[in-house]
Amino acid sequence: MFDAHAHLSAQPPADHPCSGWILPGLDAAQDAANAPLASDPRVHRAVGLHPWFLPALDALPAALDALEIRAAGAVAIGETGLDTLSRAGPPDVQAAAFRAQVALAAHRGCPLILHVVGRHGACLEVLREVGFPEEVGGMVHDFGGSAEVVAEWIAAGFMLSISPRSFVDRDAAAGVIRPDRIAMLARIPRDMLLVETDEFGIDRLPVVIDAVSRALDWPVPDVAAQTARNARRLFRLV
Ligand SMILES: [Zn+2]
Repeated sequence: MFDAHAHLSAQPPADHPCSGWILPGLDAAQDAANAPLASDPRVHRAVGLHPWFLPALDALPAALDALEIRAAGAVAIGETGLDTLSRAGPPDVQAAAFRAQVALAAHRGCPLILHVVGRHGACLEVLREVGFPEEVGGMVHDFGGSAEVVAEWIAAGFMLSISPRSFVDRDAAAGVIRPDRIAMLARIPRDMLLVETDEFGIDRLPVVIDAVSRALDWPVPDVAAQTARNARRLFRLV
């Protein structure tokens, strides 16, 4: 099994059953704090400017320059995206930061890790405008879009990732996928599906896999193996 999006606070234990983790980027300070965790060969680090942790508009060019420098050696650019929640940055800063990160990832030929809340159409539009190559692709972490938008993301080359936020009660140990998300889940091609723990703790991954297994009537070992293969393919890991 492979955790496609985990906010690690320490290196995972040596005997953890997960074979790999993608550690998303947030901002300069948090990306710097993440760097030592990626000395573990199972941990693969991305760098980015998350919509919740953006600088003021006049400080954005410098933050983007710094991001370009720290992108060397990262497996992906992100988290980036657009978010309607009040805790996210001002819409103009979000839009500028997102477009610049899409362009940076396109330039580097590097996959994107997207954080999208309520702005799926707008994000897809930016990808089209920038001409982000579908063969590079990326992932939408904690995918919460409608069943209808799944096909658009897949056509753009993006894998879709299921997190504990998709559960009826995301704090409960026994994960049950929310009924309104099952139709969405069923539309994701199995070779484009990822699983993740986000900030809920790395020991939740088997719960996510079990929930997906029950929702799709797909055996647990197959969910674990296929989603791990998908992550390794997307992030070009051996
Ligand atoms: Zn995250």
